[in-house]
Amino acid sequence: MSEILLQIDGIEVKAKEGMSILEAAQSAGIYIPTLCHHEKLQPYGACRICTVEAETGGRTNLVAACVSPVQPNLVVRTRSEKVDKTRKILLEQFLAHAPDAPALQDLAQEYGADKDRFEKESSFCILCGLCVRYCAEVKKKNAVGFVDRGARREISFIPEIASKECWKCKECFPLCPTSYLQAAYHLTEALVFPSPSFEPASEG
Ligand code: SF4
Repeated sequence: MSEILLQIDGIEVKAKEGMSILEAAQSAGIYIPTLCHHEKLQPYGACRICTVEAETGGRTNLVAACVSPVQPNLVVRTRSEKVDKTRKILLEQFLAHAPDAPALQDLAQEYGADKDRFEKESSFCILCGLCVRYCAEVKKKNAVGFVDRGARREISFIPEIASKECWKCKECFPLCPTSYLQAAYHLTEALVFPSPSFEPASEG
């Protein structure tokens, strides 16, 4: 695999062909924020918080670092006015869904995101897909998935699978940036899982 030289925040970085800008930055110890990224999962590009400026051939584009491959002589800026503004608006949209999500608070402060800028749609899920993808790609169980489309899109546990698999796993819970997942699981468990069957106490 050939080596690629690029520049990130003025630092020359050596990367391998096929690496994403995010991987190249991480290998050089350069921080790019992420919400939907996980090293065990395929890059997804859902949250776009990893947006950076990428300049090549005299053109500069805003790209999601997790799904954009490195190229020779690419010049990447992980912070700029445009990058910060993009992240701020994205965070404001996420905060409309999950205003108290701990994973969003530090980022909101860093980028000056106003949690009241957009009308509240407290779904508590930012559709990062970490739970869905982790269950599918790592656990191979598909106990949680996306349902509906557009503004109605949400995650949902599949009761037939979740009732058999989730109680002994729950590995997806700490991945959720909003902590909604755990609540959704317990709600499903309470409302939809088959009730435990009670055997009458033996007499005597
Ligand atoms: S429940 Fe949490 S982990 Fe799952 S998609 Fe929503 S925010 Fe992401």
